[in-house]
Amino acid sequence: MTKKTLYIYDSLTRKREVFSPLDPPFAGLYVCGPTVYGDAHLGHARPAVTFDLVFRYLKHLGYKVRYVRNITDVGHLENDADQGEDKVLKKARLEQLEPMEVVQYYTDRYHTDMEKMNVLKPSIEPRASGHIIEQIGMAQAILEAGFAYEVNGSLYFDVQKYNREFHYGKLSGRSVDDMIAGTRQLDGQEEKRHPADFALWKKAGPGHIMRWPSPWGEGFPGWHLECSAMSAKYLGETFDIHGGGMDLLFPHHECEIAQSKTAFGKDSVRYWMHNNMVTINGQKMGKSLGNFITLRELFEGRHKALSKAFEPMTIRFFILQAHYRSTLDFSNEALEGAEKGLRRLLQGMETLNRLETSETSSVDVTPLPDKCHDAMLDDFNSPMAIAHLFDAVKSINSIKDGQATINESDLELLRNTFFEFVVDIFGLTPQTATDETHHKKIIHGLMDIVLDLRQHARRQKDWDTADKLRDALQKLNIIVKDGKEGAGWEFE
Ligand code: ZN
Repeated sequence: MTKKTLYIYDSLTRKREVFSPLDPPFAGLYVCGPTVYGDAHLGHARPAVTFDLVFRYLKHLGYKVRYVRNITDVGHLENDADQGEDKVLKKARLEQLEPMEVVQYYTDRYHTDMEKMNVLKPSIEPRASGHIIEQIGMAQAILEAGFAYEVNGSLYFDVQKYNREFHYGKLSGRSVDDMIAGTRQLDGQEEKRHPADFALWKKAGPGHIMRWPSPWGEGFPGWHLECSAMSAKYLGETFDIHGGGMDLLFPHHECEIAQSKTAFGKDSVRYWMHNNMVTINGQKMGKSLGNFITLRELFEGRHKALSKAFEPMTIRFFILQAHYRSTLDFSNEALEGAEKGLRRLLQGMETLNRLETSETSSVDVTPLPDKCHDAMLDDFNSPMAIAHLFDAVKSINSIKDGQATINESDLELLRNTFFEFVVDIFGLTPQTATDETHHKKIIHGLMDIVLDLRQHARRQKDWDTADKLRDALQKLNIIVKDGKEGAGWEFE
């Protein structure tokens, strides 16, 4: 176990705090995952990469991390104030699909996108619809504690009562009075005693397919309940870190705090972490603004704001180049810059394999590992650590050009540090989709050559060579098929 002190900025106390997990070496991390009714976009990539970095670095420090990232497949309505249609249900209606088909389809695509970006799989990926019993149990506990009321088959959280005893708005800095002033009276809100109240359970209307039995009749859980119920189930009633995008501060996480406090009688989360938002050319991203870019559009260059396709690793590097608490402005130029930067970094790492050593070093590289760790220990300051690595790339290039020297042990230190940070902690690998295509091209080209040689041998009646080639290919699971049109091949 490391003795290094990790500082985390806690969104609740608004201070840098020393990270001391409840039960070291175990560390619990819960992050709000996507609502699966569409392809992942930049707004999904940022929290995924940010908390992948947190996950990787905590493990690197020696913690045994249980990382839970949920899939929201029910209960997330179009409007955060319990209004509108369920997002998944609406998509299913428009596409004439079973809601769980929509969920499966977009979950699979999300996984593919995340894999391309080298985002590690979480330890547990629970779905809201698979935890209805836990959510009903939690709603029941809140009701029994006296902080919820039932109206016509729906259950609402009593924010006013909660606020008299505790403090509703402590995370987002909002006051309940402001909330009344800021809330329009919406249709269907008349069931609530107070506009700031939120649904724990909603009665399913006729035709609402996603419905489950409950003590209050058939219905579905409110969006905020799933994260409180599932984090408690897998990480305990109190756990270390809860993360998500800043857009979830209110109402989602504020409601989670109120739910846990009333159901369990305590605060669940020890450190709240929020990544800042993504803007595009300085503007908020949104479907209606026409600047909404999905990851697939980025990977394929299919968007009017893009001049070309960008590698998933470039997107990852671009996200890591900003501190997670700063806003991140996407633009074609910024991505081109990230592409160049990543290439320079990876080339620098590659050059380390080809440097010649001298008796002495004229560059001082020994402080590099500590500098990089100090940056990461200071609230995961990835841009600072990357800047240190870029300084080292300058030294590497001057050694390559014969303007500086390095001895064996310093070179070893550089290699280890680059591998540790670039590959292990930042998850940046030269393995990209383009490499894959490139490799495929090479395999096909080589196979053409091999089959040509074999064809030539057969024409010469050199059966021995022809059979040798066929057998050798078979060992690689490549099957050669002789036909009238010449030989073809396929993988077994
Ligand atoms: Zn959540």
